Amino acid sequence: MEAIKIDNITLEYKSNNNSIVRAVDNVSLTVNEGEFIALVGHNGSGKSTLAKLLNGLLIPRLGDVKIYGTSTRDKAKIFEIRKNIGMVFQNPDNQMIASIVEDDIAFGPENLGIERNEIIRRVDWALEKVGMSEHRKSTPFKMSGGQKQRLAIAGILAIKPSIIVFDESTAMLDPEGRREVLAVAHELNKNENITVILITHYMDEAVNADRVVVMNRGKIVSDGTPSEVFAHKDLLESLHLTLPLPTSIAHNLGRLGIPISSDILTEEQLEEELCKVLK
Ligand code: ADP
Ligand code: MG
Repeated sequence: MEAIKIDNITLEYKSNNNSIVRAVDNVSLTVNEGEFIALVGHNGSGKSTLAKLLNGLLIPRLGDVKIYGTSTRDKAKIFEIRKNIGMVFQNPDNQMIASIVEDDIAFGPENLGIERNEIIRRVDWALEKVGMSEHRKSTPFKMSGGQKQRLAIAGILAIKPSIIVFDESTAMLDPEGRREVLAVAHELNKNENITVILITHYMDEAVNADRVVVMNRGKIVSDGTPSEVFAHKDLLESLHLTLPLPTSIAHNLGRLGIPISSDILTEEQLEEELCKVLK
């Protein structure tokens, strides 16, 4: 089933000096229900604009965005669409509303007029899903960045979306926080069948995605499995995107004449491949 269908969309911004910036340029993309997509591209390539076009925060000038068959142009359905696509942003400190964790998580469903017992069930479930159950009575303000982002995710889960977009949600976190948030994204995808769009600068976060989509200057310039996309080493370098570290090491060893597979994405694969070569 198609969760997202983007059909030839274009969107421009007018900048301060009245020049026109085409942030998304004739983009088409279909995302199936349950897919985990990593959306990568350097600063200004149009990733956040594309994210805002998904939930109707922006409407394309040309083309159409459909979420489960409903166009974001359909004003009567826009509330339904926003409920269905959760967004987790970059800054963990800007996403907290209440001073007690459980109140913060309950905020979304309360605004939807959900009945009290159902809210309690959702708060329990959402906190458990992000591994924060023991913090339900705590205050979020002193928590680590990774914990705050997991609470932001729980707040979105409580609204029961079928799609979650993470817009550089790991960018401000330390390595531990990044791992925590990434693990939650994968677990929600696997076990709750939530469709995930993970926008990231870190190529090693993209290697476990089902698909990697690369943007440059408002266009999609590559779309395939991680192995397919990371095989285009020159294209990625020309876009100032680094390869995942294990992939880069394997490429360099290959260049030195060591017979190593060029299809390496993770540390585990690199280790396995090196053991084979050493034998
Ligand atoms: P990314 O998320 O990949 O960094 P963005 O979607 O934020 O890219 O930006 C794409 C382009 O649109 C950039 O050139 C950026 O400067 C421009 N842009 C983004 N938001 C605005 C805005 N509100 N007004 C004018 N230009 C914008
Ligand atoms: Mg952005």
